[in-house]
Amino acid sequence: MRNPLTPDVLADPVALTRVLVDIESVSLNEKAIADCVEEVLRGVPHLTTQRYGNTVMARTDLGRSQRVVLAGHLDTVPHNNNFPSSMRGDLMYGCGTSDMKSGVAYALHLAVTLPEPRYDVTYFFYEAEEIESRYNGLFLVAGAHPEWLTADFAVLLEPTYGVVEAGCQGTMRAMVATTGVRAHSARSWHGVNAIHGAGEVLRRLNEYQARRVVIDGCEYREGLNAVRIHGGVAGNVVPDRCEIEVNYRFAPDRTEEEAHAHVREVFAGFEVTVTDSAAGAAPGLDAPPAREFLAAVGAAPIGKLGWTDVARFAAMGVPALNFGPGDPNLAHHPDEHVEINKIRDGAATLHRWLA
Ligand SMILES: [Zn+2]
Repeated sequence: MRNPLTPDVLADPVALTRVLVDIESVSLNEKAIADCVEEVLRGVPHLTTQRYGNTVMARTDLGRSQRVVLAGHLDTVPHNNNFPSSMRGDLMYGCGTSDMKSGVAYALHLAVTLPEPRYDVTYFFYEAEEIESRYNGLFLVAGAHPEWLTADFAVLLEPTYGVVEAGCQGTMRAMVATTGVRAHSARSWHGVNAIHGAGEVLRRLNEYQARRVVIDGCEYREGLNAVRIHGGVAGNVVPDRCEIEVNYRFAPDRTEEEAHAHVREVFAGFEVTVTDSAAGAAPGLDAPPAREFLAAVGAAPIGKLGWTDVARFAAMGVPALNFGPGDPNLAHHPDEHVEINKIRDGAATLHRWLA
C-alpha cells in the first residue's frame, strides 16, 4: 500500500485528520496506521523514532532544558455506520474525528514541520487506549521503556473542544453487600431479607453530598453512584445476599487509599469490597511549560472529570493536561464529528507555544 501520509497531507492538520480517520484502526487493529506513521517519522531527519508493538515514539534531541510530550492514541472504538469520513459544511464526520485523530494530526503535523521547537518534544502515537488497560500502549511502554516517557510536562490531545482540561479525577468501584438469612417466602419470618437491607445503602447514596473541590483554579466535582445491583435466589426464597456496585469519582486531592477509606466510611456497617481503582491526577499547572501553554491558549483551564491517560504521566511525576479540538460529548457517538475551525485554532495555539 502506498503511504497516504504525503508531504501535502502532513502540512495541513485538517487534511491530515481526514486521512488518519480513513485508515481503519479499531482497537487491536492499529498495525496499518502505526506502519504509516512510523514510515513518515523515520524519514524526518530531526527526529529519533522507535516503535514498541503498535506504539510509535519520535523525539527531538536539541539539548533544550525542558522536554514536553505530545501524545495521542491511534485506535478508535468500533465503527457505527460512520466510516469512512464525510464532510458536511465545515464539519468532518466519522469515527475518530473527535476522539482523537484530530489530536493525533496535531502531533504528527508538528513532529514533521517543526525542526526546532523551543522545548525538546517527545511525540507518542499509541495503541489501544479505548480498551482494557493491559493493552494500552502507554501502559506497555511504561513497563518496557519507562525512559521514553521522561518529560517535564505532557499534553494529551484528547477531545476537549479547544479548552484546557487539567488533571483528571480518580475512579474506583466497590461492591457493597448486605447479608440476611435464607428462608421460604411462605414462612418469611424465619429469614432476614438482604434485598430489604439494601434500602439503607440506597438511602445513604440518596443523601450523599458530593464534594466540589477547586485545585489550581480548576473545579473537580465528585460523584458516588450505584451503577449495578444484584440479589435474589428464586421467586419463593427470602434472599440472603444483595450486592450494590458503587462507582466513586474522586477529585485529585484524594489518593486512592483515601478514596477507599471514604467509601468504607460512607457504608460503615456493611461489607465493602474494592473491585477496581485508578488514581486521579493533580492539574500540575505550575510547571513552566504548562504556564506557557496556558498563556498560548489564553483561556482559563477547567478540571477534567473523566479518567484519562494524564494519570499515567502524573503517576510518573510528569504533570499533564488534555487539549484537543474534538467535542468530548461526541466521542464514541454515531454522529461523531469535528469542526474544521477548531482544528485550525488548536493547531495555531500549539504552534504559538512550540515554535
Ligand atoms: Zn480518546
